[in-house]
Amino acid sequence: MNQQIQETFPAVPLLDLKATYQEMREELETVVINFMRKTQYIMGPEIAELEAGVAGYCGVKHAVGVASGSDAILLSLMALGIGQNDEVITTPFTFFATAGSISRLGARPVFVDIDPRTFNLAPSELKARITSRTKAIMPVHIFGQCAEMDLISAIAAESGIPVIEDAAQALGATYKNKRAGSMGDFGCFSFFPSKNLGGIGDGGMITTNNEDHLNLLKSLRVHGHEPGRANYHNHIGCNSRLDTIQAAVLLVKLKRLDDWHNARRANAALYDSLLADVPDIKTPYISEDCASIYNQYSILAEKRDDLRKILTSRNIGSAIYYPLPLHRQACYQELGYRQGDFPNAEDVCSRILSLPVYPGLTEDMVKRVAGTIKEFYRL
Ligand SMILES: *Cc1c(COP(=O)(O)O)cnc(C)c1O
Repeated sequence: MNQQIQETFPAVPLLDLKATYQEMREELETVVINFMRKTQYIMGPEIAELEAGVAGYCGVKHAVGVASGSDAILLSLMALGIGQNDEVITTPFTFFATAGSISRLGARPVFVDIDPRTFNLAPSELKARITSRTKAIMPVHIFGQCAEMDLISAIAAESGIPVIEDAAQALGATYKNKRAGSMGDFGCFSFFPSKNLGGIGDGGMITTNNEDHLNLLKSLRVHGHEPGRANYHNHIGCNSRLDTIQAAVLLVKLKRLDDWHNARRANAALYDSLLADVPDIKTPYISEDCASIYNQYSILAEKRDDLRKILTSRNIGSAIYYPLPLHRQACYQELGYRQGDFPNAEDVCSRILSLPVYPGLTEDMVKRVAGTIKEFYRL
């Protein structure tokens, strides 16, 4: 970004973590210093505290801290014994980790198209893809809005197939007043810094109501050793502990999570009203069954790439989540999908654009973003 642009147009970044950090700086820094002095670096008591906190927040019985959101998905699949020759049905419109975790176990991701309004897995497409090899269904609550869980769960239950919610973007989102991560057999969360509840590095968590799954997950994250008996292994797991320092920081931040959701919702509502009369823009559709936490505020825009150039030239951050659906990724050509297989996902990838919506974004900044968009479409 050249100097002149920066001076003429003050920055509106896509995400600015400094605002929320400043808000609780003293408390966070005290926690980090105390943590270092205590030296209980691995599996400290903060992990169980955070697990109880997140389980309570989601309305589930149990939660297990793990190293990342990607590992939350991986360990959930491992807990179901999924591997070679198995299939897991999911959406092609998601972050790569959703499908990548399936592939890492030697199983095959089977994609179904999305609902063009919510961008979530379309339940109407689901039944036709179920085979005798289908071992799990994994809807993703994209951008912070839950998928249609009643329909998905009903179809899964008919065939006795477990449901894994990829709720990495949706901690606190609700569907018919139930929280993300409380509706499937497993709920997978990420504490990557850009998520609504973000750590100071990587982290993740799995929610479940099933005690057997709980015990298995707790074992799998420590190389599958017996409870309280290191170096005696019942299972083949991996090292996927949640870092204690992340748990300590996240415990502090969890108290502020609902305020941050509300700040994002207020920003989203302001965009909704400012952009309502722009015919070339579709603002996010939120189903009446859902309350979104707006991990992203993603519009559909005609001439998206030109619009993005203008935003960039005005020092306004934006991002394309996601530019290429997973069935079109180079590494997945062997799955045999083609352009045209999932028209809704393909179309959304060509028009989607995420705008700044983070807590700490001011009303004035939202107006500047919306104003620039209107200027582009000459309204
Ligand atoms: C962030 C994310 C993940 C992965 O989480 P990490 O903590 O980055 O490993 C998985 N699925 C979705 C939909 C995500 O947004």
